[in-house]
Formats: sequence, C-alpha cells, structure tokens
Amino acid sequence: MKNQSNLNSLLPVPREVRLGCGRMEVRGLQSIHCAPGLERFLEVWQRAFAYFGVRLQRTGTSEAGAVIALDTRLPAEGWRLEVENERLHLYGGSPAGIFYGTGALKQLLTIAFSKGLQGVHDLDCGTIIDEPRYAWRGFMLDSARHFQSVDKVKELIRHLADYRINVLHWHLTDDTGWRIPSRIVPKLKSLGTLEYGQYTRAEIRDIVRYASEHFIRIVPEIDLPGHSRGLLQAYPHLACNTDEPGREYCLGSAETKQFIIELLGEVAGLFPESDVIHIGGDEASTENWENCSRCRRAMEEKGIDSFRALEAQFMGEVSREIAQLGRRAMMWATDWGVGPDTIIQGWRSLFDISNAFERGSDMVFSVHHHLYFDYPESAGEPSANWMPLLPEETVYATDPRVHVGPEVDGKMLGVEACLWTETVPQWRVIPKTLSRLPAFGELAWSFGENRDWYDFTGRKQRLEACGYNSVRDGVRMLLPDGMQAR
Ligand SMILES: [Zn+2]
Repeated sequence: MKNQSNLNSLLPVPREVRLGCGRMEVRGLQSIHCAPGLERFLEVWQRAFAYFGVRLQRTGTSEAGAVIALDTRLPAEGWRLEVENERLHLYGGSPAGIFYGTGALKQLLTIAFSKGLQGVHDLDCGTIIDEPRYAWRGFMLDSARHFQSVDKVKELIRHLADYRINVLHWHLTDDTGWRIPSRIVPKLKSLGTLEYGQYTRAEIRDIVRYASEHFIRIVPEIDLPGHSRGLLQAYPHLACNTDEPGREYCLGSAETKQFIIELLGEVAGLFPESDVIHIGGDEASTENWENCSRCRRAMEEKGIDSFRALEAQFMGEVSREIAQLGRRAMMWATDWGVGPDTIIQGWRSLFDISNAFERGSDMVFSVHHHLYFDYPESAGEPSANWMPLLPEETVYATDPRVHVGPEVDGKMLGVEACLWTETVPQWRVIPKTLSRLPAFGELAWSFGENRDWYDFTGRKQRLEACGYNSVRDGVRMLLPDGMQAR
C-alpha cells in the first residue's frame, strides 16, 4: 500500500517518489525563474498557477521559489521535481522532460486546490524522479478508412501528449483512402472509389509542427504491397493485371518499383523529421502474383521458389531504399520476414514477437487483443461481430516482458496502441481513444514494478473527482501562441 501523500497521485505513476519532511504551501510561491531556452514552459507554468489564483512573477535569479532548468544527467525524457518548504524546482533531461514534468505539476496543483480556495493548498515535501520505461510509446491512427480533419488530428495529439505518447504512427493509405498529396498520383485526389479527403502539403506541415510541439514524432505509413485497391484502380499499370488490378502491386515490374521509390522520396520530403517510415507489409494475397508472367519471371531470375519469398525480397529492397533516404523501415509482422534492420510491429499474436526476436529484429508490441483500440470496450458498444472485447483492465495488464519473456527487453522498442477506423468515423476517434488511453499511457511510460491496477484506478478516480480534466482543458485554453489549443 502506497503512502497517502499527495505526491503519490500522479498518472502515469512515476519511477520513484522520495518523501521529505513538512509541506509546501503553493500560495507562498511568488516568483519563477527559467533557464534560457525554456521560456515556453515559463508561460505554461504562469498560466497553470494563475488558473488557481497564484501569480508567479518572473525573475532573473535562480533563487526564485519556482525554478525550471535542465539537468543533463537525467535521461532525455526524464524529469525530477523537488518540493521543499518554500521551493518548487523542476529539472528535465531535455525540453521533453520539462514537458512531462509540467504535466505532472498540473495534476499536483489540481489535487492541492481540489477543495477550492478554503484553507491550505499544500504539497508534501519530497522529490519525484521519473523516466520512461519505453522509448517508443506509440499510437496508430488510421486516417485511410475514415478521414479525420486537421482539427481532429490535433485534438488527438493533445490527448496523446497528456499521457506522454511520443510516436504518432499515421496510416495514410489503404484500399479505400489515399490521404497524402502526391505529384505522381494526382488522380487520387478526385477518384470516386475513395472516401473523400486528402491532406494538403501545408496541412501535413502544420500537423508535423503541432505534433513536434507536443514532443510527438510522426511515423508515416504507406501500405505495401497489398491494401492498395483504390490506387491500383486509378493506376492499373502498377498491378499484375490491368483489367482486374486487385489490391496488390506487381512485384515483377520495374515500372512499379520505380514508382514506389519515387513515392517514398515524396513521403520522406513530406515528413522531413520522421526517422522511421512504415511500409505496411501485411495481408497481401499471392493470387495475382501467381497468375502474372512478370512476377513468375522475377522469381526465376532471382532463383526464388515461393511467392512469399519474392514478397520478402521485394519488401527488403523497399527497406533498403528507405535506408538510402536516411530513414529506417518498419513493417507489420509476417511469417516470412525481412532483414533485421527493419523494425517489426507484432500485431497478430505473441508469436509475432518471438519470431521477430529470433530473427534479431527490433520490435514494437501491438498485439491486437491487447492494444487494438477499435475493439469495443464493453458489450453495448457497436462493433464488428468478430471483434473481441478490450476493456481498460486488459490494456493495463499488458506487459511484453511478462507475455513473451524478459529476454526480449533489449529488442523491444516499446508498445503501440492501434485505432483502425473501419467502424470508427471521426466523431468516435476521441471517445474510443480516451477511455483506454490512461491505462495505455501508464503501460508505455511506467515501470512494471510500479504498476498496480487498483492503485491506478484509485489515482485516476481521484484526479477525475478533483476536476483534473477540466483543469487541463482550462489551462490549455490559456496557452500562448505556438501551443494553442486549436
Ligand atoms: Zn506481377
């Protein structure tokens, strides 16, 4: 049982809380100092305190009551909050650490002021030391099956950042949607078979910038070699059979390969800061390849004896093209694998993880019955009939180390929740995400030995009861330019 100190109220639960002696009256703080380069946080702190009626005057001296500074001995995303009788100091290993520590501070202020302005508003003295368990704390948004407006994507980014998610894996193409602007496939903007909607270059730049302000990097996904029905109907010469193009690219066509290389170059240009590009790789049928003379010839020329091996070689070549662009390739797990440099996202079962581990790949854990957020949380929720229930507690109980074994630790980059949108129009995106995001955030951020379901639900209910969601949104509305709510 944890000590009832208000420092033990945080969500996600921090790495370590060291309790000191006495309390700090928050209203006693009068001044704030921030180290150069961290000015954006200064304003966020002033506004967060102002929300509770506390005015913090900026000073040039580090003798101030509140201090924000870097401490490069901390891990890059780590932070340390020191609460002493008349001082409140936050240190971050980088601006990201300050960002996460500032989020924690808003929770602590909510707790301290939960009784209104009556009486004292204090925090227990002590030190909170925190760092993430996983470097990859991902969330996949499928914008292909249903399109989301720029505002909706930004709203999602804000919520993800609140729970310290740092990767937005953006599924941008599929059978029924093509969401990126491309100079080489201009027809897709107006194609009747695709659901309406495509982001402009300016909108993508805007979203990339917005995500980066929230310390979220984007991993764009172009699904290859399957899941491409809409594109191939518009450009059938890229498929095996121009009369019935189906949904797979032709693996034996030099023209198709050249097209994909050009497309990836465009994607790299649209997402200049994305160090990983996802190339799909899932659920391709071999049927069209089997009936295609070019694919058969490619197999013979390469001395390959199966269409799956041909597919693996094709995806390996695409991965190397991505390496040429200075990026790293990522794929959904398959049974046939690619080179170990490609990050593998395990999604079908725990075997995906153990197989990828045996092949020496880095991995991200997204096994569907643990982390597919399109699955219903309760029986009353509309969903496809094949979908299993995925209650919050199941998400919380997920742990790759426990399910697969501690040996995968060094290769497990992290975890990623996936929101496929076949059954999720954009007005359901936020509710589908929010109900399980706190549990997922704690799974992604907090170390296993600190996680406990009953402790988690207690902290969550306490913050909710204290009005934390309103505080967070209220402080956000007051944010300055560059971190605007919309
Ligand atoms: Zn072919």
